[in-house]
Amino acid sequence: MNIRRVYEHILVAEEKIGRPISKSEPIHHIDFDRLNNDPNNLHVCENHSEHNRIHNSLENIARELYRAGVIEFKDGEYRLCGNGVVTNVVEEIVRRLYGN
Ligand SMILES: [Zn+2]
Repeated sequence: MNIRRVYEHILVAEEKIGRPISKSEPIHHIDFDRLNNDPNNLHVCENHSEHNRIHNSLENIARELYRAGVIEFKDGEYRLCGNGVVTNVVEEIVRRLYGN
């Protein structure tokens, strides 16, 4: 990883919002891929607590997925459970949460 790669997301995000970004404004990678610096994948947070809220919201979803048996804790990490079942369960959860 080179220096330009490390800072690319800042440059792209500054271009996106049209002003410099301060160190107190974390940049969140929406798809969690730090190498994907597409402007649509970057969210400039107002502060660190907003960034924490974003990550906590995902943890809340993970809790639901764990309780629903979509993910499991195995060998020291979280993983998706078996194959065909996952799609059905995820669809059911989405239907319940969002009603489609
Ligand atoms: Zn983040």
